[in-house]
Amino acid sequence: MEPRPVIPPRVAGHATALPGGDLPAYVHDLTALAGDAAEVRAALPPETELYYAAKANPAPEVLRALAPHVSGYEVSSGGELAHVRKAVPGLPLAFGGPGKTEPELRLALRLGAERIHVESENELRLLAALAAERPGEAPVDILLRVNLPAGDGELGGAALAMGGRPSPFGLDPRRAEACLPLLRGTRLRLRGIHAHLASGLGAPALLAVAARVTAWARALGERHGLGLDEVNVGGGMAVDYARPHARFDWTAYGAGLARLAAEHPGLRLRVEPGRALTAHSGWYVTEVLDVKHSHGEAFAVVRGGTHHLRTPAAKGHDQPFAVLPTDAWERPWPRPAALDEPVTLSGQLCTPKDVLARAVPVAELRAGDRIAFAMAGAYAWNISHHDFLMHPAPTFHFLS
Ligand SMILES: *Cc1c(COP(=O)(O)O)cnc(C)c1O
Repeated sequence: MEPRPVIPPRVAGHATALPGGDLPAYVHDLTALAGDAAEVRAALPPETELYYAAKANPAPEVLRALAPHVSGYEVSSGGELAHVRKAVPGLPLAFGGPGKTEPELRLALRLGAERIHVESENELRLLAALAAERPGEAPVDILLRVNLPAGDGELGGAALAMGGRPSPFGLDPRRAEACLPLLRGTRLRLRGIHAHLASGLGAPALLAVAARVTAWARALGERHGLGLDEVNVGGGMAVDYARPHARFDWTAYGAGLARLAAEHPGLRLRVEPGRALTAHSGWYVTEVLDVKHSHGEAFAVVRGGTHHLRTPAAKGHDQPFAVLPTDAWERPWPRPAALDEPVTLSGQLCTPKDVLARAVPVAELRAGDRIAFAMAGAYAWNISHHDFLMHPAPTFHFLS
């Protein structure tokens, strides 16, 4: 493991000052978030549109802090659609996801989602039928989501692959071609192609995907005499939990997109990262309840656990953390402690899977010390199984 994450002073100050009754606490550093988003925006070519994939962290405070830096939001359910529209009214929404229901599509039409990413022929026919019920309204702008085959080894490094192989996501490229005749006479307007093939990729792999999707979209447009000028190349920019200081190489990625745009005049490129925008600015702060040694190994049991922060269990990593030592120990008996040894940080759940970090060397860790888990700003609280065991929910703090 790399050196511990450096906890920014304002987060450390807040985490230390929180009353014990407020722990565990999610602390989101909105200033750091805005800084990260501004850097990403600055690295991308000006004409590339940056959308934020809301499912990574849909907290309204997060959505609003990103608003000055993004062109819009990608939403993947009717719930997200209504929530994001309300939190950041007036900013464009792209509605994707497999298995959209008729009420969800009706909601998208009613709320005027700026783009709908169509994932199957069935969905296309349903959307066309719903749009036909609204004759006075503007045409509905859509992208076809396509599951293109991956180049050799291209998605090998991915943490999650949604495409590039058989999957329920998007259209097989041949089926996408077969969709085109279905558009005739409908109130749907095909603006381009969407592809989100995998999450957890580095800049070279994502640039290769972007180039292939763009070439495919352009060729499709030419074969059918369509001006398909929009290409949404998805999200999936990697975050590395083993290296909390590292960032996705936005500079290289932006330079690559600029080259791609130069090769395809008139192209409107869009990217929609989730985790890479919000992961680094979120913290999960808690305290050590107990330290014990079991069969020669040290365990620190913290308040809370994977029912609040499921990310390390779901992804199989150690969540990076900083220790905030506290000197107060008011009990009349010795303070349980681990000294200069590897410690496993587990939670309060009655399952051996409730582990936040495994066998991580620490200089000292004592009952009552506070722990700030880093990189807890994406796919954290909102993917966790909150109700298991009925422990209290964390408190939430947004520092601006
Ligand atoms: C989840 C998702 C994203 C964002 O993925 P990250 O790995 O968080 O960047 C973008 N687009 C689509 C269609 C998604 O499903």
